[in-house]
Amino acid sequence: MDCLFCKIVAGEIPSKKAYEDDQILAFHDIAPIAPVHILIVPKKHINRANELTEADAALVGHIFAVAANLAREYGVADGFRILTNNGESAGQTVSHLHFHLIGGRKLGEMA
Ligand code: 5GP
Ligand code: ZN
Repeated sequence: MDCLFCKIVAGEIPSKKAYEDDQILAFHDIAPIAPVHILIVPKKHINRANELTEADAALVGHIFAVAANLAREYGVADGFRILTNNGESAGQTVSHLHFHLIGGRKLGEMA
């Protein structure tokens, strides 16, 4: 499949890894909008959040637990944001589910 993040998961495109296990990969965003800007992606291809089902509950819970650990590791546990853009009109540019972990500066209000 011609998917940028599947290629990053497969190691075909290099990334600066922050965390990896059998289910997920976390890597630093190539164009960070804050001192800490990590993308957390499931290794299995899911297009976007509106394709998630109850069968993905453990996966999504795991992603949030890893995000909390990364926030601690990168020193932003007291102030960070986790967000996912669903669809082009919401700003999604890569069609492989990903959660942005953003922190390390004062974050403004949403939208
Ligand atoms: P979206 O706009 O879809 O929510 O987020 C996509 C993110 O992927 C953007 O923040 C963008 O900077 C990041 N990105 C795009 N291409 C690459 C890449 O090749 N490597 C890395 N590490 N990040 C990328
Ligand atoms: Zn993919």
